[in-house]
Amino acid sequence: MKSFEMRIGAMWRGASNGETFESTDPYTAQPWASFPRGTAQDVDAAVNAAHAAFENGPWTRMTASARGLLLHRLGDAIAANAAQLADMEVKDNGKLRAEMLAQMEYLPQWFYYYAGLADKVEGAVTPIDRPGMMHYVTYEPLGVVAAIAPWNSPLLLAAWKIAPALAAGNTVVIKPSEFSSASTLEFARLCEDVGFPPGVVNVVTGFGNEVGQPLVVHPLVARVAFTGSDSGGRAVALNAAETFKRVSLELGGKSANIVFDDAHLDDAVKGVVSGIFAATGQTCMAGSRLLVQSSIHDEFVARLTEFVKTARLGDPSDPATHIGPVSTQPQLDKTLSYIAIAKAEGAHCRLGGERSRRPGCEQGLFVEPTIFTGVRNDMRIAREEVFGPVLAVIPFDTEDEAVAIANDNPYGLAAGVWTQNLQRAITLPRRLHVGTVWVNAYRVVSYMAPFGGVKASGMGRENGVRAIHEYLEARSVFINPVPGIANPFVLSR
Ligand code: NAD
Repeated sequence: MKSFEMRIGAMWRGASNGETFESTDPYTAQPWASFPRGTAQDVDAAVNAAHAAFENGPWTRMTASARGLLLHRLGDAIAANAAQLADMEVKDNGKLRAEMLAQMEYLPQWFYYYAGLADKVEGAVTPIDRPGMMHYVTYEPLGVVAAIAPWNSPLLLAAWKIAPALAAGNTVVIKPSEFSSASTLEFARLCEDVGFPPGVVNVVTGFGNEVGQPLVVHPLVARVAFTGSDSGGRAVALNAAETFKRVSLELGGKSANIVFDDAHLDDAVKGVVSGIFAATGQTCMAGSRLLVQSSIHDEFVARLTEFVKTARLGDPSDPATHIGPVSTQPQLDKTLSYIAIAKAEGAHCRLGGERSRRPGCEQGLFVEPTIFTGVRNDMRIAREEVFGPVLAVIPFDTEDEAVAIANDNPYGLAAGVWTQNLQRAITLPRRLHVGTVWVNAYRVVSYMAPFGGVKASGMGRENGVRAIHEYLEARSVFINPVPGIANPFVLSR
């Protein structure tokens, strides 16, 4: 079994109490690696190292261009190690190697993009209503940023926080998910290799309550960037409020994929399948509600079902596999429990609906791709996030009805619209209460495009030019160039 250490300041080390925990390979259901079980003491050491690097280190004295150069080198190092990083993620979370490799090969773009932005943050000299006085605004880094990540796309989602935070001149303490720490530790090694000064990038591994919570409440942490469940996000927001920290929350979803009868149906079938069965349904943006116009409902569901039946389940490292296991035992239990709930609610199980025992899937955490029809939008299967390969199909008649159903949900992360009607393609995105809309596409993300949610899907935006300002604060400077301050005891009118 592989054994990892965590990165605190200039040190690679174990937990303060010497304890470790294991990560299980979801395909073999066997532990494959062990990690330090971080403590509040370790968090304190990491935050202090990050704070010292911010206050006193060479990092803050570097020019923004030099910071950008380091980020660029880091992108190159990730590109050179993409396969190794992908292999680690597959071991940890069981997602398809093809998907993890594509992610790791795309990941450098975040570092190149924010590397380019690092020296383009401009302040402003502004007019001011005080005669003779000068006023200008600079945008300053915040200090220590805590980046807390989930297990489903471990390094990608951490990078959405780390790249703009570092480009802005902050230092970071990263807390990867307890289910997927390996690639983040390897990333920290690459940061060291390319020359980031000690303390700028720290990683503390461990559990949410033992590492995440002490990190969020630490008085020297200025900003928390969190991706995870809505329950985790609520705890983070409440804890951060105690110490008045800025927070961004990227949480769950129950996104609607809306198929109109004027859609290109072959494309729509593929888009719906990739929306819910890619990554075994374990993406925040999963299109887990299929809203399909009644006039094509039966035909579309039949085509969809036939297509999904061709999916091969199995070893996530085998390029011939289409759907891998779910990532963790709790995730398996949760998915199966929602399948039971949907059946009890009266939804019709059109496909799947059970743990998979196909040859090659006996040991792993496999669920059959599942389609429920006859779902009403008030059923739990239509309102709550499953985070597994389970699709809830809801019919609608009119465009207004589709919009009402799509918006009638606690979440607001994303939506898909399938139509060849130009007017609909342009007007509908403005009516959907979500952070991202795809028209005749699904699950597209880019370092250039803001991503985030509304309602229970969270707050704040990652990616795009403005994300760097999530890690900067305006500083207002007034300069009085002329001596002769008025007597403060004599009020002028
Ligand atoms: P989770 O909330 O269980 O854990 C996320 C991270 O938070 C982990 O590192 C965990 O250890 C930590 N954590 C848990 N409790 C904490 C606390 N009280 N204080 C500080 N840290 C704490 O989520 P998960 O199961 O790892 O991830 C799946 C969830 O993430 C799903 O709900 C999914 O929709 C969501 N997600 C959202 C996005 C997005 O961009 N909106 C992307 C991916 C995943």
